[in-house]
Amino acid sequence: MITGPSGVGKGTLIRALLARIPPLELSVSATTRAPRPGEEDGAAYHFLTPAAFAERIAAGDFLEWAEYSGNRYGTLRSELERRLAAGVPVVLEIEVQGARQVRAAMPEAVAVFIAPPSREALEARLVGRGTDRPDQVAARLRTAEGELDAQEEFAHVVVNDRLEDAVSELVGIVRRQLDCSSTAA
Ligand code: 5GP
Repeated sequence: MITGPSGVGKGTLIRALLARIPPLELSVSATTRAPRPGEEDGAAYHFLTPAAFAERIAAGDFLEWAEYSGNRYGTLRSELERRLAAGVPVVLEIEVQGARQVRAAMPEAVAVFIAPPSREALEARLVGRGTDRPDQVAARLRTAEGELDAQEEFAHVVVNDRLEDAVSELVGIVRRQLDCSSTAA
């Protein structure tokens, strides 16, 4: 699983990882957040209403879920189970609270924390990508403070400074793990 603060480049790194390691598949998360322009239901996320999300929690459908910046995000067990049963390695992109839950539920899962080169760089990236309103950027930055402090908890930390270097490092970590045969990345 790939974790780290919002805006650190997890999505970009994961796209590069999926291109470099073809058997890997991405778990599509569920969220109550509204779709951003261009985000398709079932591809970017499974977009659920708050009521539908609550029903899926009650039904025990989530491996993990967390509240983040006023919305809920979660990993559906169904996204993992059929792939892992077929031996297909799965990658999750999740925030830190969810990563802790996955670590507790699946200690064999490999956790990689993506860190920004500096707090200033993270702020510049969050503002620059233009996907969130200023108040949302401010909330994400406040959350990021706590998330950055959590990086020591994770077995691997990759600093996303030069993208190519970060991709190589991440690909190396995942390849080593796959060579050791476990299927949850
Ligand atoms: P965004 O709104 O920018 O798409 O996502 C906000 C945060 O939620 C990001 O840090 C993202 O990695 C995280 N996230 C996405 N999917 C999940 C999930 O299934 N579970 C958890 N816990 N976090 C998620």
